[in-house]
Amino acid sequence: MICFNRPPYVGNELEYITDAVNRREICGDGQYTKKCSRWFEERTGAAKVLLTTSCTHATEMAALLADIHPGDEVIMPSYTFVSTANAFVLQGGVPVFVDIRPDTMNLDETKIEAAVTEKTKAIVPVHYAGVACEMDTILDIARRHGLYVIEDAAQGVLSAYKGRALGSIGDYGCYSFHETKNYSMGEGGALLIREEDSVLQAEIIREKGTNRSQFYRGQIDKYTWMDRGSSYLPSEINAAYLWGQLNAAETILEDRMRSWNRYYEGLLPLQEQGKIELPVIPEGCSHNAHMFYIKAADLEERTALIAFLRTREVQAVFHYIPLHTAPAGKRFGRFHGEDRYTTRESERLLRLPLYYGLLPEEADQVVRAVQAFYAGRTL
Ligand SMILES: *Cc1c(COP(=O)(O)O)cnc(C)c1O
Repeated sequence: MICFNRPPYVGNELEYITDAVNRREICGDGQYTKKCSRWFEERTGAAKVLLTTSCTHATEMAALLADIHPGDEVIMPSYTFVSTANAFVLQGGVPVFVDIRPDTMNLDETKIEAAVTEKTKAIVPVHYAGVACEMDTILDIARRHGLYVIEDAAQGVLSAYKGRALGSIGDYGCYSFHETKNYSMGEGGALLIREEDSVLQAEIIREKGTNRSQFYRGQIDKYTWMDRGSSYLPSEINAAYLWGQLNAAETILEDRMRSWNRYYEGLLPLQEQGKIELPVIPEGCSHNAHMFYIKAADLEERTALIAFLRTREVQAVFHYIPLHTAPAGKRFGRFHGEDRYTTRESERLLRLPLYYGLLPEEADQVVRAVQAFYAGRTL
């Protein structure tokens, strides 16, 4: 069976973990955490990048930094992971779901402004499959209405929009290093902070509401409770694993890109015959080959295709159930405007196996299996 995902492992992770353990530096904010933070700060231009225990937690931090209060509205797509909404709901925020674009599965930037009310506090673009949302338009709307922009860039590590790293464009950006993402630390994430002036508050929120980070830097002589907060810092053991991955960042990216391009070229004839649709990368976006998806005609065809691929030893999977149709989505949020594409496109989308180390012959086997399914359909 060609499985859908395999956690990335390049081979040097254990060496760094062993080093952290040997030095008895295993709690948070040691040498490996600092190395990873600096690595991302250099590559993204963010004023600060704080490693966190997950992308979910990075988004919770962003909700606290944006000072979300009960009743505040947050505009986001419904086609996303639960954490995008949950982080704000925990503060009493109300997710206002807006339809997506069918080409990228991202928030439709032309539908956002109509959803803005006097209660709107933030816009949360989700860069699906590591392909950027239309950020210029989103930033312009946010500026005119005085809204925060919090990027869910869980899938967008090392992707860019007009040359700017995803996650570093809005006020805050959130990365995931879960084992299903391009770079992993088991469970983990990062909060990117664009402006220097909110770094101190972010450090306090991450350190249980205390100014311990300043204390460790020798800037104050005792630390104390300053604000709301929780424990959002990962252990050095996890950070050491991530550091191993970052040392091989280009290798991982190129490997994934080779598989992505092989799928694209292999499946292009089926798109030209009008049988499936392939991902669209808009002008100005550079992506990270986080995901390769195809779109079948409808839910019924997708279900048949998943079953067929299984008989050919290929594990393909569908993705998000739109949040506005989920029990909690109905309870805590609402959909603004018409659901023209969110449900319809989510029912057609199918993700193919893609991970670091997928072999070219395995990608070819997947392509042949998809071709065989559609050859059979026309008979
Ligand atoms: C993976 C993912 C998350 C959650 O990441 P964790 O690190 O597991 O908390 C959030 N949003 C999106 C879009 C994701 O893909």
